Amino acid sequence: MTTAVVIGGGPAGLMAAEQLLQAGISVDLYDAMPSLGRKFLLAGIGGLNITHAEDWSSFLSRYPRAPNQLVSALNQFSSVQFVDWVHDLGVETFVGSSGRVFPREMKAAPLLRRWLQRSRELGLRTHVRHRLTAWRLLADGQFALTFATPQGVLQREATCVVMALGGASWAKLGSDGRWLADFEQAGIRCQPLQASNCGFEVAWSTHMMSHAGAPLKNVSINLPWLSNGCRLGEAVLTQHGLEGSLVYALSAAIREHLLMHGQATILLDLCPAQSQEAIAMALAKAPKGKTMSQRLRALGLDAAKIALVHEAVKQSPQTVQVGYAELVKALPVTLLAARPIDEAISCAGGVDFCEITAQFMVQRYPGLFCAGEMLDWDAPTGGYLLTACMATGRQAGMAASEFCTTNQGANDD
Ligand SMILES: Cc1cc2nc3c(=O)[nH]c(=O)nc-3n(C[C@H](O)[C@H](O)[C@H](O)COP(=O)(O)OP(=O)(O)OC[C@H]3O[C@@H](n4cnc5c(N)ncnc54)[C@H](O)[C@@H]3O)c2cc1C
Repeated sequence: MTTAVVIGGGPAGLMAAEQLLQAGISVDLYDAMPSLGRKFLLAGIGGLNITHAEDWSSFLSRYPRAPNQLVSALNQFSSVQFVDWVHDLGVETFVGSSGRVFPREMKAAPLLRRWLQRSRELGLRTHVRHRLTAWRLLADGQFALTFATPQGVLQREATCVVMALGGASWAKLGSDGRWLADFEQAGIRCQPLQASNCGFEVAWSTHMMSHAGAPLKNVSINLPWLSNGCRLGEAVLTQHGLEGSLVYALSAAIREHLLMHGQATILLDLCPAQSQEAIAMALAKAPKGKTMSQRLRALGLDAAKIALVHEAVKQSPQTVQVGYAELVKALPVTLLAARPIDEAISCAGGVDFCEITAQFMVQRYPGLFCAGEMLDWDAPTGGYLLTACMATGRQAGMAASEFCTTNQGANDD
């Protein structure tokens, strides 16, 4: 019987395996960890935002400089098809007020359980605690794969291999990005893995650090170097700097600016609902004897936002010349670096799409397919990450099954 090998049991690898199984091809799936889908389960802790219900052209616009292969995979497995696929597993979904789509139970475990059960019923064979440590193409067109397992080194050969090894964040969950050096050594061009949807570092004073953990609700961040770089949302103050969904949404643009300029000064609007003039009037009208903190509190600013205003004045006393109203509307915060990649929600970089055919096969290695976060694409949070992992996994799996069928003789066990 024809057998394919899938390496990586995250959403992309599982989706590729499902396509192969549905095409009647038997699948051996290997994963380094003791169980599958660990990062997927972690995503479930935040409610598992599977996709987004916005119109399709807006959806596609969330993938900056998306390569054609990715757009084509997404067009064939859109947010609507993803939701249908989840329903097929018997998991109900709902659309949140922001358009984000979640399973009704807001968890990943029931979905993963049903998915694995369905795949095993189709014949999926899983091999956990099997870490791919080396691979090479043999003269007969087969791939020689080396795995480290608790029982020792395992060698096996396969004609068709799908790799879905993930990015390099949350390494303790399995994806550590170590595959990239082997790919480069095999002559496959890769872009460096970089933190995406991540926090950024700020040199806070000790006083500011005492506000670590405080949410900055209903603020907007303006990236002054971009014409369309202003967004409303929620950020979080941390010991190291700033995090939160609003910061993640802007992280790609901030990362690029940091790369070019070494630091990035963003402008926080702490009171987006009010104009600068209205704020100036309210501050001036406050009864004499009220401190600036009391005046700012009367405006509706909480302790963390007030601390930010004082921090800006303390760090550069001349900023007070612009007036407190202007500070409240455009408070400069200098970001010094992205937080380490291991803390990031996702990674940018990975296998360069110039190496990948429309079928997600590595051009110079016929029979080797790649999918998911290990490919060089980027997207904000909002369900765009999982949708792209599923869409590329599906495309790679379908193409791999065609490859297996065409090369049947060579594959037969
Ligand atoms: C905290 C957090 C919350 C998130 N929330 C969301 C969300 O709500 N919505 C969303 O869309 N996305 C979310 N994401 C992102 C999403 O989880 C990832 O984009 C997605 O899991 C990537 O899928 P993947 O299959 O490409 O890789 P992974 O899920 O990382 O899977 C890769 C697999 O490959 C295995 N592997 C790696 N190297 C080897 C090797 N050498 N040998 C064998 N096996 C190996 C790993 O063990 C792992 O199981 C979140 C991420 C994090 C960290």
